[in-house]
Amino acid sequence: MIEQAKSILKKYYGYDNFRDSQKSVITSILKKQDTVAVMPTGSGKSVCYQIPAVIFPGVTIVISPLISLMKDQVDALQKINIYSTFINSSLDYTEINKRLDKAKQGEYKLIYIAPERLNSSQFWNILNTLNISLLAVDEAHCVSHWGHDFRPSYLYISKMIEKINNRPVVAAFTATATPEVKKDITEQLSLISPNIYVSGFDRKNLRFILKKGIYKDQFLLDYIKTNKDESGIIYAATRKKVNKSYELLTSAGYRVGRYHAGLTDKERQSTQEAFLYDNIDIVVATNAFGMGIDKSNVRFVIHYNMPKNIESYYQEAGRAGRDGEPSDCILLYSPGDKHIQKFLIEQGESTKKRQQNQLKKLRQMVDYCHTTKCLRGYILSYFNDKNSMDICNNCSNCNDDYELIDISKEAQKILSCVYRLEERWGITVVAQVLTGSKNKKILNNNFDTLSTYNILSSYTIKQVKNKINILVADGLLDITESKYPVVKLNKKSYKVLKGKLKVRQKQQEKLHKISSNNELFDILRKLRKELADKESVPPYVIFHDSTLREMSQKYPTKRYSMLKISGVGSVKFKKYGKFFMDLIRNYLKNNDVDNDICTFIKKRSSNSKNSTKKSHLITAELFKSGKSLEEISKKRGLTINTIENHLIRCKKEGLNINIDSLIPDKFKEQIFSLIKEKGTQRLQPIKKDLPDEVSYNAIKAAICLAEI
Ligand code: ADP
Repeated sequence: MIEQAKSILKKYYGYDNFRDSQKSVITSILKKQDTVAVMPTGSGKSVCYQIPAVIFPGVTIVISPLISLMKDQVDALQKINIYSTFINSSLDYTEINKRLDKAKQGEYKLIYIAPERLNSSQFWNILNTLNISLLAVDEAHCVSHWGHDFRPSYLYISKMIEKINNRPVVAAFTATATPEVKKDITEQLSLISPNIYVSGFDRKNLRFILKKGIYKDQFLLDYIKTNKDESGIIYAATRKKVNKSYELLTSAGYRVGRYHAGLTDKERQSTQEAFLYDNIDIVVATNAFGMGIDKSNVRFVIHYNMPKNIESYYQEAGRAGRDGEPSDCILLYSPGDKHIQKFLIEQGESTKKRQQNQLKKLRQMVDYCHTTKCLRGYILSYFNDKNSMDICNNCSNCNDDYELIDISKEAQKILSCVYRLEERWGITVVAQVLTGSKNKKILNNNFDTLSTYNILSSYTIKQVKNKINILVADGLLDITESKYPVVKLNKKSYKVLKGKLKVRQKQQEKLHKISSNNELFDILRKLRKELADKESVPPYVIFHDSTLREMSQKYPTKRYSMLKISGVGSVKFKKYGKFFMDLIRNYLKNNDVDNDICTFIKKRSSNSKNSTKKSHLITAELFKSGKSLEEISKKRGLTINTIENHLIRCKKEGLNINIDSLIPDKFKEQIFSLIKEKGTQRLQPIKKDLPDEVSYNAIKAAICLAEI
């Protein structure tokens, strides 16, 4: 049976293989076992019920709380000729009846319904006239009081199951489930000895970045400038902040929308739609924006403020990169964020117990902002994921590509100023005194007579405030949680003052591009947008970014090579293949792209079945032909980091290439002797004894050579 499922995956979805968790879940459903699948966002839950729906006779009912998603899901299924429909409150009575009639005729393989439909026993009777093989419950945690999105209508599901004459297989899906929620899902849905699968929480393509003590607005502007044209979400804690950032970005000329509870339904809906249809690139929003965002090419999620707990953070940040492409999750922390959240919890939670529970979670969120360990590892161990790691090499704590500078002297000046001001003033006054401000308040209080007046005269007030924020964020100084927050010294402050503790600050690292798109990618993206507009569907429904990127790197111009691109199945090939191949052919002709890549791909295609996957070999071939890393990076639209990794991989696989040049001559001897001393298992212990300019890839290359 799984073989049949695999061929459907290829034909309809254009993917070669199931992911591990998908395979187990689909196998279980096909064996007609009730199944619970806990899988993270982006891991491909929908395929797990859609493919059995195609295989089983009759129809599959999908219960989903996300009305806004149903249409997109159904559109996407129609595009691959899997006939389906949805029934929810957006339709009128006549339309619903029309669809139910068609369902009775057996016209659909899947019907999406909103749980509220189940409140009526009349509707159960209608469902009972259909031949239902499978009932898929999406976002199944909504059945539990313990979950964060309890939906009373979910409690009707088990009653409905009871009513159906031939009980269907029931499969429940969720991205987050604590033990209590898992228990509730099994009990409340009356599942019969279900197989339960929990796949890891890790999302490898997401890069976690934490920034503290920065000018948030400036960061937004710089980051978005670097990543122009990419889709992203910016979350802020309050409506006011959303409006401010929205204005900032709009006046900088970006295509931005905003979303919060203070806007009308119409405004919110139009923002959401513009975002889905790629008519705007960025949405600035409160956490009201989210459930129902299925857009697969969100390349970054920036939190302007720290959220209230790790669960919310991971869920919101996890809206980035559903298509598996590299994406950024950036948290901009400032100590004030903690106070906003604390205030909201104290106002919002009804009982002391719940309050305490929430405050504990808030502390764990703040700890995330202070940890110097791997950020991904921190999140995974928070969720008790057994695959948690010490180093992921894809978060801002693991990738030490910044310089640490010693700011102990400045720190001492700041702390002694706080001391002279008798710990009675806020950040602004401290910064004003240090920079020698002639502000009335300063002069009236005679602060210009203090010994610390004007001792940081070479900095602006803003720069000094920034440094104070960093000291607070690093726990070297406290801020009271009162209405007018006051700066106070703590134990660590005294250590710094006495010179017993050094203070280091990260030099701002260079902003990086999330993904380097090549010219052809942009051309293909335009074509996708035109096709999508013509068919009134979101562009990602036609092809995901990952599919376009692969096309832009491998230049498929024939049926067989196009069908090898992940995401192109025969159904979509028939609909769209020609348009994309024509464009690629044109591009090759107009740009005189050297035939080396094309011939190489062709040569490999005739030799091996999986050739289009072996991207690293293409890199190696170009490298061997004498091209520099920069040239290959530009030509292939891949980062230098990826190119280096390709070469190291080829070397490991035994290819005859010379990767010596990846290791800087100056440090070669030192690197090899460190490898000898510390072994080849872990990079960090080696990296930490080397100057910052030695990259991880240089060490990886040296390890590879040492092992050969
Ligand atoms: P979830 O519902 O778990 O968040 P989706 O069902 O939306 O995830 O799938 C996430 C992405 O992964 C989609 O772009 C989907 O097309 C893709 N995908 C699903 N299964 C596979 C697979 N076996 N191989 C490659 N991509 C897949």
